[in-house]
Amino acid sequence: MIALHEKTRRISQCSFGGGIRDIADACNKLEKKGMKTFHFEIGEPDFDSPEAAKEACKRALDENKTHYTSTYGIEELRSAISEHEARKGYTLDPNNLVVTCGAEEALMTLMLALLDIGDEIVLFTPCYLAYREEALFAGAVPVEVPAKLGEHYGIDMDKLKAAVTDKTRMILLNTPNNPSGCVVSREDMDKLVEFVKGKNIWLVADECYSEIIYAKKHVSPLDYPEIADQTIIVSSSSKTFAMTGWRIGYAYVPHDVVAMLAKAHLMTTSCACAFGQIGAAAAFRDCKTFTREKVARFKERRNVVIEALKKCPGADFPSPEGAFYVLPSIEKLNMKPLDFAMGLMNKYGVAVVPSDSFGIKNHVRIAYTVGIDTIRSGMEYFVKYYNECLE
Ligand code: PLP
Repeated sequence: MIALHEKTRRISQCSFGGGIRDIADACNKLEKKGMKTFHFEIGEPDFDSPEAAKEACKRALDENKTHYTSTYGIEELRSAISEHEARKGYTLDPNNLVVTCGAEEALMTLMLALLDIGDEIVLFTPCYLAYREEALFAGAVPVEVPAKLGEHYGIDMDKLKAAVTDKTRMILLNTPNNPSGCVVSREDMDKLVEFVKGKNIWLVADECYSEIIYAKKHVSPLDYPEIADQTIIVSSSSKTFAMTGWRIGYAYVPHDVVAMLAKAHLMTTSCACAFGQIGAAAAFRDCKTFTREKVARFKERRNVVIEALKKCPGADFPSPEGAFYVLPSIEKLNMKPLDFAMGLMNKYGVAVVPSDSFGIKNHVRIAYTVGIDTIRSGMEYFVKYYNECLE
């Protein structure tokens, strides 16, 4: 048998979706046995993709647009993304965009291309579980900096300054944040930008949820032209347009690295799906009110979760201002998050994600991406189980 070397071992030790898929699978098994289940673990909108996207994609298939595209992505899609951003007040040159297979591939390719072996990348925890593993896969060193999580989320500048060394090459920020739903404030972004400005460090903003926002205004590094040559934006059609399975995302990078990034993307995936890109172009171009309408529905669901959590003494959570997640504490229960999550699922069929996957202890993540009635019933069981564990 061929011996596995260190890197291969590292990949095989990756938790494959941070355990989310394991929980979803376990939940599905209970469902098959006839148990009523509540999927609060999966972070993807339950809405259908926009009709305009589906129609454009079907037409593209009929017209045999099924071949390789430009590695940068089709011009139609890059222009549609640029116009979409222009409506929000941002000027994105389509020539600085590289279309990828979801934000996931954009992040992985960026790390592979821009980080050398041993370079450090700062992650603010809690964070999206793939960041850490992708950094390790790229040969980089993830450096976790805990965010302030009280009632309001905040970047802890003292901790950040202490964590940055001469090996730091990238700071990765996600706002609104998965798994907390928190949004970075203008004041925090001002301080972060001031700190990063002029250093040999990329500021990468994962803005997958930037349009799913209930409070505050989304603040982007794009608001700060003084760091334009250090700013990279990653986003996708997945959450904005409920198009997770289409696998269309993008990276917006400074002019001098766009060709390099396109080459790295060429080596990893060649190009994103041709007809998927055509569908996504229609979504970015034609579905101007799609997200706004969905946000109103997400907000209603979020409020149901918040009201239920108020019946769980000690289950404090930082204010969820965006995305579709809430991250309550279970510290008072003196239980490991995994034990709580498994107990809740086995007893009442409610699936949530233990927070260890996101680089933080003593919390669980609730995703409100199912219908409001299911959320109401599932949260009743959550409250019941939490209070049983408290006794
Ligand atoms: N970034 C964050 C913060 C996410 O939560 C996710 C998916 O859950 C992704 C990136 C990946 O998104 P995509 O479907 O565009 O690859």
